[in-house]
Amino acid sequence: MPYSFQVGSIPCHIVSDGQQLIDGGSFFGLVPRVLWERIISPDEKNRIPAQMRCLLVQSPAGLILVDTGQGDKISAEYRRSFGMDDSNLRLEADMRRVGFGPEDVDIVLLTHLHADHCGGNTRRSDPADPESEVVPTFPNARYLIQRLEMAEATFPNERTRGHYFPENWEPLRSSGQLEIVDGDQELAAGVRSVTAPGHTGSMQVVWVEEGGESLLFLGDACSWAAHMERLAWVPAFDLEPMRSIEGKRNLRRQAEEKEALLVFQHDSQVVTGRLRPSEHGAVVEPEITEEAWPDGS
Ligand SMILES: [Zn+2]
Repeated sequence: MPYSFQVGSIPCHIVSDGQQLIDGGSFFGLVPRVLWERIISPDEKNRIPAQMRCLLVQSPAGLILVDTGQGDKISAEYRRSFGMDDSNLRLEADMRRVGFGPEDVDIVLLTHLHADHCGGNTRRSDPADPESEVVPTFPNARYLIQRLEMAEATFPNERTRGHYFPENWEPLRSSGQLEIVDGDQELAAGVRSVTAPGHTGSMQVVWVEEGGESLLFLGDACSWAAHMERLAWVPAFDLEPMRSIEGKRNLRRQAEEKEALLVFQHDSQVVTGRLRPSEHGAVVEPEITEEAWPDGS
């Protein structure tokens, strides 16, 4: 279900590619299960639901889509093992609910190239034929990828290999839609991306700021609200955990100053919230919540 609101005069929509079930330990790293299960209790296989939210921004420079979810090229076996919905076009269906189709997107900004963030970049030309050609999902869009992320994805190591799949970006190179960028970007008046290394070497977050209001789309710099409240809680996925902690400290300070609306990409309970002070430090006061557990719907 999409959520729509304005940041100043800029209309924004949180859309989703659905959810998958991921081992709880991978999201909470060194944190013992007895602590993180107070936030979200796992199923009998120790899995928790992880949302795959994306952000649509109706910016002055055109329609910007931040991340594209897991997409539909994955096999039925993979979907089963990750507890995914077996329907196709989940993200497109959500986008249509707020009035947009794939052809309307002008810019796709990828926070990074892990498969659950960029799998929807491309699709099979015939969804029923797993051998059919892989083509760009958004035919009129420029796809922006950080140079360092492209390098890490192109030359993965033993640890990162399982997250990167060239079919998610190579067709964009062939079609001329791939645009490599280096460092922070001003995408449009009021919309900018900022690198926040830690999860990967050049992960980026997105700020939308207009009319005295701010939104911060955190991506995997802080994918659950609990990770914003507890700086030491860092996912096992993160390649450089100490940089993740410093990055979160920095983002948390800015978000507090600006009273920014925080968007959590994977959190199954807190979709958006704002930081407010408490006697135990800053806590996230939820604004939009959803409960996607335990029935998985
Ligand atoms: Zn990631």
